Amino acid sequence: MSRRRPVPRPQPARATPKACPCGLPADYDDCCGRLHRGEAQASTAEQLMRSRFSAFAVQDEAYLIRSWHPTTRPPRIDFDPAMRWVRLDILGSTDGGPFHTEGTVEFRAHYTERGRAGELHESSRFVRHDSAWTYLDGIVSG
Ligand SMILES: [Zn+2]
Repeated sequence: MSRRRPVPRPQPARATPKACPCGLPADYDDCCGRLHRGEAQASTAEQLMRSRFSAFAVQDEAYLIRSWHPTTRPPRIDFDPAMRWVRLDILGSTDGGPFHTEGTVEFRAHYTERGRAGELHESSRFVRHDSAWTYLDGIVSG
């Protein structure tokens, strides 16, 4: 019985840290991924806003629905396959802190649609529901 030289086993591809779509300098898994997986909750309306943008970017429908206020949430979300959300700029916010029950976040969300760049400028309203921040509605401007 010959001893074969041990064949080096192929190393599992190291998961390359993936930058979080929300724009914070963090890996997706440690940033919005924790919220999407239900391991953490947004403590501010802005954090929820970022995590929802990321959820659009990674098409996490379940997270978008459960972070949507029950009175305004759609039954389901149809992601447009031609649309990619690429970057989020937070322009400003009011309230929405750990001790608030309401807040607004104004943002500009950049996307490409069939390769053409576009942006959504919106002021969103967030309210707490069962103590967790939820998205209520938004006013799209310009
Ligand atoms: Zn993030």
